[in-house]
Amino acid sequence: MRSPIDDEIRQIFDQCSGIVEGEVATYIPELAAADPTAHGLCVMSVEGHSYAYGAVDVPFTVQSISKVFAYALALETHGFETVDELIDVEPSGEAFNELSLDARTHRPRNPMINAGAITASSLLPGDGPEQQVTALLDYLAGFVDHPLTVDDRVYASEASTGHRNRAIAYLLRSVDVLRTDPMAAVDVYFRQCSVQVTARDLALMAATLANGGVQPTTGKLLVSRAVLRRVLSVMAGCGMYDGAGHWLTEVGLPAKSGVSGGILAVLPSQFGVASFAPPLNEHGNSVRGVAAFRSLSEHYGSHLFEPR
Ligand code: GLN
Repeated sequence: MRSPIDDEIRQIFDQCSGIVEGEVATYIPELAAADPTAHGLCVMSVEGHSYAYGAVDVPFTVQSISKVFAYALALETHGFETVDELIDVEPSGEAFNELSLDARTHRPRNPMINAGAITASSLLPGDGPEQQVTALLDYLAGFVDHPLTVDDRVYASEASTGHRNRAIAYLLRSVDVLRTDPMAAVDVYFRQCSVQVTARDLALMAATLANGGVQPTTGKLLVSRAVLRRVLSVMAGCGMYDGAGHWLTEVGLPAKSGVSGGILAVLPSQFGVASFAPPLNEHGNSVRGVAAFRSLSEHYGSHLFEPR
């Protein structure tokens, strides 16, 4: 039986389906093959109840959304002191792939832009890229309750064109923020960005973050309290790159986007929400996704700073 909430979300989804603005990312050649009309939206409650619309089971690569989970796992593995010495938590106001470090400390400004994310990748548990990628895949599998794999075509495509990320890695190595082989760190990063997910998977990941770090269907604790608070804070301030200020003002939820068109957002203690629509705006955020989250937030008054 359809509930009123189901009809309301469907209406928002249908309205956003009509939006044709934005461009599919092409700088990773394999991403250019994405269907610009693909569109999915999935809302998952902390009890594990889902509302799903459109292409929620269509696989795409997680891209920058992986940064949230690599950062969480790096923090769980090494603790705050070690990680904070290498990666700051300050919004950068710059594009996700900017070659920039804090002028004084030389740290990347936050773990949601590539410089910070590549550093976090280098901190994943394991001896060498193979083990580090396996550790992250295992960690992510806990969130979605099934195994995940790397899309080898997207990985190969990014690896053959990702010279800017290599430049960032060498910059990090030059200031000793990266203490391992820069090419190994970038390889882990390329693979983690190429992990295949669906909007339904992302909604489960978001719902786990909404549910105090406990996966709603398995009941397993995947993110400790302190790490969860940190990760959500960084997502709120930095998750949408140089669009983060507008996002926080208009949507008001911790979120993370990826260049293949995914966005996940968290309404703590209530819902995880994920959308998938490949055409992007100038900040690299999905146009239909941003529109859907704006409408959802407005309709349900779910902006975190909404006076209650
Ligand atoms: N793999 C992509 C890159 O580093 C991820 C960027 C993104 O999703 N914004 O260029």
